[in-house]
Amino acid sequence: MQKNESGLKVQLSEKGIRLTRQRRLLLDLIEEASDHLHASDLVKFALERGEKIDRATVYRTLGLLKDQGLIEELDLLHLDGPEHHYEAITRKSHIHIGCTKCGKIMEFETDLVANIEDEISCETGFLIRSTRVEVSALCPDCQGKEREKA
Ligand SMILES: [Zn+2]
Ligand SMILES: [Zn+2]
Repeated sequence: MQKNESGLKVQLSEKGIRLTRQRRLLLDLIEEASDHLHASDLVKFALERGEKIDRATVYRTLGLLKDQGLIEELDLLHLDGPEHHYEAITRKSHIHIGCTKCGKIMEFETDLVANIEDEISCETGFLIRSTRVEVSALCPDCQGKEREKA
C-alpha cells in the first residue's frame, strides 16, 4: 500500500475490500469534506475533478462504507429535505445541533457520547457500533430575529 493512503482507505483495504478508482475518489471527497455531504454533492465534486460517477455507484459505495462502519448516515433532522447526509466516523465524537428556522447545523464536540456508550455497554452488554444525537434548536441569530418581530 502507498504510504500516503488516508485513514478511510487504509481501513477499507484492511477489511479486504478492493480500492477501485471510484471508491478511492469518493473516500477522498468524504474525508476532505468540512461539511456533511449529500450523495448528490459527491456526484458534483467528482465531476469537478473530471470523474463521472453516477448516483447509483455513489449510493452503492456509501452503503458499503456504512456497512463497514466507516461512515455515518445522518438525517440531520431533515432540515434541508429528505436526502441523507454522510460523514466519516474517523472524526472526533460530536453531536449535531440543527436550527429549525434557518437550517444551520452545528457540530458540538463532547465526550458525553462516549460516556453514554460506556454506560450502555456496561449495563446491557450490547456492543455499540455508533450513536447518533441530533438536537433540534433555535440558533442565536434566529433567536434575535424572533425578538425583533415581537
Ligand atoms: Zn437559525
Ligand atoms: Zn457531523
